[in-house]
Amino acid sequence: MNPGKVSGWDDVFGQEAAVGHLRSMLLRGDVPHALLFTGPRGVGKFTTALVMSAALLCPSGDADGCPSCRRVAARMHPDLHLLEPEGMNIRVERVRELESALSRKSVEGRGHVVVVDEAQSMTAEAANAFLKTLEEPLPDTHLILVSESRDSLPPTVVSRCREVRFTSIGWRELEEYLVRREGLPREEARSLGRRAGGMFGRAVTWARHPEAAVYWKRGVECAASLRRLTLREALERMESCRRALHELRLEEEDEGLEAYLAALDRKSAERLRKRREEEASRRDKRARRLAARDFLDGMASFYRDIMLLIVVGDEGGEAVESMLLNPEWRKELEREAGHLDARRVYRCLERLREAGKALEANVDEELVLSHLVTEIRSLYCG
Ligand SMILES: [Zn+2]
Repeated sequence: MNPGKVSGWDDVFGQEAAVGHLRSMLLRGDVPHALLFTGPRGVGKFTTALVMSAALLCPSGDADGCPSCRRVAARMHPDLHLLEPEGMNIRVERVRELESALSRKSVEGRGHVVVVDEAQSMTAEAANAFLKTLEEPLPDTHLILVSESRDSLPPTVVSRCREVRFTSIGWRELEEYLVRREGLPREEARSLGRRAGGMFGRAVTWARHPEAAVYWKRGVECAASLRRLTLREALERMESCRRALHELRLEEEDEGLEAYLAALDRKSAERLRKRREEEASRRDKRARRLAARDFLDGMASFYRDIMLLIVVGDEGGEAVESMLLNPEWRKELEREAGHLDARRVYRCLERLREAGKALEANVDEELVLSHLVTEIRSLYCG
């Protein structure tokens, strides 16, 4: 969800190789014009991109938490340009806007930094336009592309970037981090890490803001009660969840923004203000998408637990208990397992995956969720 404030290299965890590589580039004053961060989802690529941007734009030459670095962290630095998907894609219009922003002199005089998040979501047209920026590097402009894998990007784009690989973070490491850095008790750290699906960013957000896991919990509740509701009740419940998703707004942290804008020249201030507004609306959309994903993952965790009970059964004894994602729902899990078999549970999980894909593809939430309820309910026997 809201990735929270990022202020320095300490915010990146478990990526020693990537961080070491980047810091030595900074130290040598030899940062390639275009970097490509690749690696699994949720391991800190975007966070690192922000820290690297702070370092590139900082008067000291490294991320040191000064006012300039803090503006990068709050995404209100006039020379930091974020490209992120709107809905499914990064469209060509956004790349054109970027080009014209880069053609102007940087406001703070240390050049421009562009971060392209989910770079694979550029449309073919956008990627083509972007190629021009890549091929004809402007002085003092750095590009950081973020993507899960290089294979999902056009080879022409990849070949012009220096790749920096991020590795997946193991359960153990994540657990250690939650214990040592976030101060969670060992057991809680273990179960939280598992629930977050090993996704570092999600686990940290949930550790710091337990209320952020609300959509995930709703998903679990929904899966636990779906069979026993009438179709109408089930649809009503989905509708209330959909409404909550729709009303979800991120809180903006605007501390110091007005004062900073007042100190800028009028044109730069106007541009920054407009960009902030557009970014805020895109981030709202994105937060809704992430919340919907949490909801579906919460449901899926319930069915995964049922699968575990069906496959391992009573023979698993205490081992099963420690493997359940929702041990506190044991009674409900056993009850629902009595109405399903492995094949049906597998189909439930499949339906959930499809629903997730439909939401990512911007299919109407109401349609997706009500379809999902009807489908999953039809999989129960008796
Ligand atoms: Zn700084």
